[in-house]
Amino acid sequence: MSLCLSVVVPMYNEQDVLPLFVERLRPVLDELGEPYEVVAVDDGSADQTPVLLQRFKREWPQLRVLRLRANSGHQAAISAGLGASRGQWAVTIDADLQDPPEVIAEMLHVGRSQNVDVVYGVRTDRSTDTAFKRSTARLFYTTMRRLSGIDAPMDAGDFRLMSRSTVDAVMALPEHNRVLRLVVPTLGFPSATVGYRRDERAAGESKYPLSKMLKLTLDSVTGFSQAPLRFATWFGLIGFTVAALMLLFALWQKARGNVVQGWTSTVLIVAGFGGVQLLCLGILGEYVGRIYASQQARPSYYVAYDSLADDRRADERDGNQARI
Ligand code: UDP
Ligand code: MG
Repeated sequence: MSLCLSVVVPMYNEQDVLPLFVERLRPVLDELGEPYEVVAVDDGSADQTPVLLQRFKREWPQLRVLRLRANSGHQAAISAGLGASRGQWAVTIDADLQDPPEVIAEMLHVGRSQNVDVVYGVRTDRSTDTAFKRSTARLFYTTMRRLSGIDAPMDAGDFRLMSRSTVDAVMALPEHNRVLRLVVPTLGFPSATVGYRRDERAAGESKYPLSKMLKLTLDSVTGFSQAPLRFATWFGLIGFTVAALMLLFALWQKARGNVVQGWTSTVLIVAGFGGVQLLCLGILGEYVGRIYASQQARPSYYVAYDSLADDRRADERDGNQARI
């Protein structure tokens, strides 16, 4: 029997919200009346998340637990879950109930009835997010759309339904640190959107500190746009023109005999050019770092444990015993 739906849930230290999440997700999935699996990806949690997952798993056979060896980040955790998923459809959803599980049924319906491969969950109301989060998110989406030219839906995070062929296409990409909300639109599969209200986190705290948001932004920019490199070129060109003018000016001054003059302008020029050079070096460094990482080809996550393997072993054992 093939699975209809895989629900991929990244979790990092989510012990507070996990019971609430299971309580709300399970009825929605049971009501679908189709075979499903929930792939809970424990992203190296240091709290009771893995213990709770094993406990829930005993009563919920469709729950499958994947544990990553170390905390690898939201995007890597989703990739790990998608890579392990087996359903004809896969939906990715956060564990903190900010994405309402009830919308999954609607996404599946839209995916099938409109015959599309991807259904994006689009946040129509973000009033529960902080003003800082809202404005930084807006900046992120508009900048990325302009820089990369990708027609990514505004305010679509990682709550998304994908067909098996989309998941396979994403997983076949060799790219590391892939930012799925941008990778998926670039693949160009037919898509639709479903609006939803982004609720407040049901319990626990956000696992996305500013440092992780910055990493996501850097990965997005360097992964999808060469515009910063072009900025560097423009800076270089402008710098070159200014330097040429300065040279003419200096020669002219020398010809007039005013050679010792302008300490301030010298300092300004040295500091200004130094700054621009450092900035351009930094931009180059970001891209070189990305090339370096992809050259090393180290996986961005390691799966330490998959409960499916355990279950299969147990099934085999039972089968053998039945035969004896
Ligand atoms: N998450 C994860 N690894 C991380 C950080 C977050 O798997 O390193 C998970 C987290 O458990 C949650 C989802 O990613 O299910 C979104 O994180 P969070 O709700 O903290 O982000 P926010 O909604 O505040 O942007
Ligand atoms: Mg959240």
